[in-house]
Amino acid sequence: MTNKLVVEDLYVSVNGKMIIKGITLELSKGEVVAIMGPNGSGKSTLANTLMGHPKYKIEKGRILLNGEDITNLPTHERSRKGLFLSFQYPAEISGVTLTNFLRTAVNARRKEPVSVVDFHKLIKAKMKLLNMDEQFRKRYINEGFSGGEKKRAEILQMMVLEPTYAILDETDSGLDVDALKVVAEGINTLKSSERGIMLITHYCRIFDYIMPDKVFVMSDGRIVRTGGSGLAREIEKHGFDIIPKQKQNNTQ
Ligand code: ADP
Ligand code: MG
Repeated sequence: MTNKLVVEDLYVSVNGKMIIKGITLELSKGEVVAIMGPNGSGKSTLANTLMGHPKYKIEKGRILLNGEDITNLPTHERSRKGLFLSFQYPAEISGVTLTNFLRTAVNARRKEPVSVVDFHKLIKAKMKLLNMDEQFRKRYINEGFSGGEKKRAEILQMMVLEPTYAILDETDSGLDVDALKVVAEGINTLKSSERGIMLITHYCRIFDYIMPDKVFVMSDGRIVRTGGSGLAREIEKHGFDIIPKQKQNNTQ
């Protein structure tokens, strides 16, 4: 059970409506797992639930992180234990610069705060990897950022926090080919035997840069197909038509 993020028979409701209807899956350190599925299949609900968003109510099941039951832990404690979520729709936070935010987030996990000079060096190097202009450091979080810039800021956050389990919710959506390549390279630099990555996507194009070890296909709050990289290729060819028909009709 250790060295894994485990989801056990999870049922989740939002505003009284059951959205996740019995999901079991595992993400081990060193693995890249893809969660795919059409819009409305419950991918973001799963991601937000894993991170402990209070709006999502766990009706049944458990979430285990390295063997520890975290089902009822608040978000900041999950984060401290190495869990990270990159949002599908990153929020704008006026008045807080990206640097200050990231430094505060890093310091929240350390005994000794990182020095301003060391942090500056770190963030500068990571921004270079992501082709991000340095001026973004001083800008308020996501305010006036384009879609692609927001996604890069999310990956920057992940690079600085170095989580053990990273959940990336549609980080590839809304990016042009060049931005997709940069973001994918950023994710690839974080692939490690000490880290598990959950790539949530409904496109296959990111698989040109990052091949998942396992693919789970969701529909209507359930996992309806499980496979390896071959399944990703199958979806690339045929789209979500590979989902058994009776399971496609659907989310409402
Ligand atoms: P996906 O990320 O796969 O597109 P979501 O998890 O965003 O799917 O949505 C799954 C279903 O849950 C949809 O029917 C959506 O309308 C519903 N849902 C998600 N979040 C909320 C919410 N905060 N309030 C009400 N319904 C929600
Ligand atoms: Mg979503």
